[in-house]
Amino acid sequence: MADAKPTLPALLVEALHGVRSVGVITGAGVSAESGVPTYRGKGGLYEEDEGKIDALTGTTLLSDPDRTWRAVGDLARHATGARPNAAHLAIAEIEKKVERFVLLTQNVDGLHEAAGSRNVIDIHGSITRTRCMGCGADGELGREELEAIHAAPRCRHCGATLRPAAVLFGEFLPEEKVERMRCEFLDNPPALVLVVGTSALFPYIVEPVLAARRAQRLTVEVNPAPTVLSSVVAWFLQGGAAAIVPEIAREIR
Ligand SMILES: [Zn+2]
Repeated sequence: MADAKPTLPALLVEALHGVRSVGVITGAGVSAESGVPTYRGKGGLYEEDEGKIDALTGTTLLSDPDRTWRAVGDLARHATGARPNAAHLAIAEIEKKVERFVLLTQNVDGLHEAAGSRNVIDIHGSITRTRCMGCGADGELGREELEAIHAAPRCRHCGATLRPAAVLFGEFLPEEKVERMRCEFLDNPPALVLVVGTSALFPYIVEPVLAARRAQRLTVEVNPAPTVLSSVVAWFLQGGAAAIVPEIAREIR
């Protein structure tokens, strides 16, 4: 099956040429094309396994951290060998072209950073970083270490249990990252707000788009199927991120 190169509408292309500041918002759909399963939704890792979601809650972390870490190890193993795809690379390329850039991502796989993105708000954190539940020390786990994990790791400073530096189900978002999101997207929305590969159920995904719309900024959504945002954005482009985002990046100068 030969994929025809997507053609962007001429009016959108014209608008993209003048863009000097860009805010991108991404979700699991971007990484799905790299073979990282989405948490929920069709074909998602947890489509039929609520037990795994339960293991990844803040409550389980406190009562049975070994179980949480085994589930984190599962996540890591499912993402083994995943590499940034054309969408990750195009998003990193946009950052190099414009004067102001910010990326808000829900993904915890680190693929945006691997693609070269710099100003990233990883609102859900990362599964490869750790925080000590005793002394608060930050740390990092190697990919191999993470994939082989069978019990909660211990802090080398104080011996307390480490937690993944990721937001688990039922936990609050880190205030500092929410503040950065507000500052970058709500206080002074970028000229272009581009939403890619997220079903946009969370207020912190919807709000930046609404703010951009109110401020009469350019809003674009790329998703395989319509979402709650599709009627809000100026341009809803239906399709895969790896096919469409490079075309958008090409038109930003
Ligand atoms: Zn410690």
